[in-house]
Amino acid sequence: MRITIVGAGYAGGTLATELATTYDTDLDVCLVGTPGNFGGGTAYGDARGEHLLNARAGQLGATADKPAGFARWLNLSEHARDAFLPRAAYGEYLLDRLHDAEATSTNLTTLEHEVIEIDRLPGRGFHVHLDDGSRFESDRVVLAVGALPPQRLPGVGPRLSRDPRYVASPWQAGELERIDRDARLLVVGTGLTMVDIVATLNRRGHRGPIVALSRHGLLPQSHTDMAADPVELPPRLLRTLHDSDLRALTAATRRLCRRVDDWRVVVDAMRPELQDFWRGLSPAQRAQFLRHARPYWESHRHRMAPKVAAEIEGTRASGRLQIVAGRLLRAGIIDEGLYAVIRRRGSAEVERYEFDVLVRATGLDTDITRTTHPLVQHLVAAGTITPDALGLGMRVSRDGEALDADGQPVAGLYCIGALARGECWEMTAINELRSAIYRLARRLREPALRRIAQPDAAQAIGRVR
Ligand SMILES: Cc1cc2nc3c(=O)[nH]c(=O)nc-3n(C[C@H](O)[C@H](O)[C@H](O)COP(=O)(O)OP(=O)(O)OC[C@H]3O[C@@H](n4cnc5c(N)ncnc54)[C@H](O)[C@@H]3O)c2cc1C
Repeated sequence: MRITIVGAGYAGGTLATELATTYDTDLDVCLVGTPGNFGGGTAYGDARGEHLLNARAGQLGATADKPAGFARWLNLSEHARDAFLPRAAYGEYLLDRLHDAEATSTNLTTLEHEVIEIDRLPGRGFHVHLDDGSRFESDRVVLAVGALPPQRLPGVGPRLSRDPRYVASPWQAGELERIDRDARLLVVGTGLTMVDIVATLNRRGHRGPIVALSRHGLLPQSHTDMAADPVELPPRLLRTLHDSDLRALTAATRRLCRRVDDWRVVVDAMRPELQDFWRGLSPAQRAQFLRHARPYWESHRHRMAPKVAAEIEGTRASGRLQIVAGRLLRAGIIDEGLYAVIRRRGSAEVERYEFDVLVRATGLDTDITRTTHPLVQHLVAAGTITPDALGLGMRVSRDGEALDADGQPVAGLYCIGALARGECWEMTAINELRSAIYRLARRLREPALRRIAQPDAAQAIGRVR
């Protein structure tokens, strides 16, 4: 049975490694990823030296059964396992695992290509089309494509969106490097992306003022230097989670946070329960969470390494970084720079400011209806995948199988990663992804109902290698 995994970042690469090395079956695993992005993906493969992991090294094993795998790979001492290491080191670890799997397994093929179309075959299985015009058959396909390319920020005019004064993808090599050191910057977003941007600008000796804007002006909270002892959730809080009662959960969480020394252990203890909690919410409750609770949840859930937090604090104290709570209403080009019209939170007045560069740092894009991603566009147009009610990604069943425009499972087409956020919300960090990878690997091993003729596929693979 051929399983094709589209996307070779953390999720795709780790799933391929799992399937190719853990199980003694006759699976034929084909990992297809964009060239130069194997193993680490956007988060780790392209990370600069100043970008740190937002979890402790000792917890970041690539697979759920070996949480200390990364620390062991680095041969870290007990003490060092609590450290927040550079993301690039994690990228090397992931790539090393993938190379090992390629070297030792006989059933893993890797292809450096973009998948541009996936067509359902009558009965079962798929045609997978690559960007060089070749195609092959696959019994099962996993979409592990990560988040989608950034969409234009609301309010940003079409001319500015195509101008070098607008930085849509701060991760892209060279994008921050081309900013003048004295430039006045507006960064839209105050989460971990903004934090990375400021760290890089500091490293480059940026002198100009930086304004970071978001609806609530909330920064990510900081981790502590030493991890506190974990806490068990009391039955009362567990009940509110199982009852899917957002209001009661908030109250119970606040109560528990007051009783423990460090609120972080409460947030961490809740994480394993949250996918089921989200599934239990009605669409209206989910929308309510996104509208009111999301910024607060995210600032506590996605935390900065202490060293990074200190750097952000220092940059604020120096007056070079200002955090503003408000909304960007409009931005466009003027002679020398750009203008931005902002309404501060709680104010009815609009204010107009001038900057030199606007950087988009609003987090992961997962709206499949507005995307320019060719494969996702094709799948949406064909009705093979369909958006979830809140525009968080694509509809999938509980075990990650895509649901088509009629709400029917697309047998053999799975999704793992950010596009499945609509189904389970917490699905973007290593912790949640590696549990999902474990479950999906087991599911994928289940025998297909019908085998597809293989020779054609093998020839196609041979051709594109
Ligand atoms: C900057 C950043 C930092 C992060 N830091 C942390 C952290 O410290 N800790 C943590 O737990 N989580 C972190 N995360 C969360 C992160 O999303 C996950 O940890 C993980 O990297 C996601 O992996 P993925 O495989 O789902 O997506 P990605 O890593 O984005 O991989 C998807 C891959 O699919 C490829 N692709 C897309 N479309 C196609 C196609 N049609 N054909 C072929 N290939 C395709 C892409 O090029 C990409 O290489 C971070 C995220 C970002 C963006």
